[in-house]
Amino acid sequence: MALKKLCPKCGRLIDAGQRYCNECTKKYEARQKERYKEYDNRRKGNKNWKFYSTNEWRKVRQYINIKYKGLCLWSYYIEHMIVQANVVHHIMPIEDDYSKRLEIDNLIPLTDMNHRYIHELYKKDKARAQERLRFILNEWNKQFAR
Ligand SMILES: [Zn+2]
Ligand SMILES: [Zn+2]
Repeated sequence: MALKKLCPKCGRLIDAGQRYCNECTKKYEARQKERYKEYDNRRKGNKNWKFYSTNEWRKVRQYINIKYKGLCLWSYYIEHMIVQANVVHHIMPIEDDYSKRLEIDNLIPLTDMNHRYIHELYKKDKARAQERLRFILNEWNKQFAR
């Protein structure tokens, strides 16, 4: 008869060469995976957050500000109002595609309020909201060729 021992987690009888019983091993591995995912998300979150304080982001923001004359494009095209922008929004969010973080065609200047509103729209229908923002950029580019 093979050497047996008790699973240290649940007390089931197992082969002496095993660390845990099959069930506990599965649970253990699932927990490890979950931990790694959490760790990875935290790491990515950190990287994204750090990006906003980099020089390259500051420069791109300045460029956007000049290109669009400091205007909130949502106010201009949707509400037909001249309002100063104070944030630059990523149409494709950096957590979705980090490689587009500095792409001019992925950035749109907005007021704080419209920015928050657009993030609400993203929760309901991201693709549709992104389409509207790209349409707005396109209108600008048609009107004031680059
Ligand atoms: Zn067990
Ligand atoms: Zn945003």
